[in-house]
Amino acid sequence: MRYRLGPPLITATEIQARIQELATIISSDYADRDLLLICVLKGGAMFWADLCRALHIPCQSDFVAMESYREATSPLAEPRFTKAADVALADRDILIVEDIIDTGHTSARLRELLWAQSPRSLAMCALLDKAERRQVDTAIEYCGFIIPNAFVVGYGLDYAQQYRHLAYIAVLEGVLED
Ligand code: 5GP
Repeated sequence: MRYRLGPPLITATEIQARIQELATIISSDYADRDLLLICVLKGGAMFWADLCRALHIPCQSDFVAMESYREATSPLAEPRFTKAADVALADRDILIVEDIIDTGHTSARLRELLWAQSPRSLAMCALLDKAERRQVDTAIEYCGFIIPNAFVVGYGLDYAQQYRHLAYIAVLEGVLED
């Protein structure tokens, strides 16, 4: 085996406590607005599930999935949706729910694609921010944790579709990023 799961970097208790804090802020910011959570599959699924249940306000949810830059057929092609939202986004207050912002490319492109559908507002809620790896400036209005430059798994995040089920975040040691 070329890689090894490290100890928890962020425990399940810490994640749940931070989600309660974020949910309180979001509930206040979006009170009396038309909140639509857009969960980015697959990594954002567990975060979305806990975050939406912690909100104190009504909201709707939909799901999108993006082609990754790493898997793009051409390095020049902009990633597209592999699953677009099912509901109309025009005039909605959209909060994107993402697992992690790394270089920022995916998030910047996602915002561009969603803005093209004329929402009233658009903001990002990301559980993790690998700030030192940023290549593209992209706003994170609601951030769970800033983490060091390491490859992490758990709580929705995978390596080769493994580890998503973990209730905590851990570093997968031995994975080399490009
Ligand atoms: P970005 O476009 O910001 O570089 O990359 C965002 C995507 O890369 C995330 O949505 C996630 O799928 C993947 N990614 C970036 N860093 C990590 C990491 O540390 N662990 C895992 N499992 N995925 C990551």
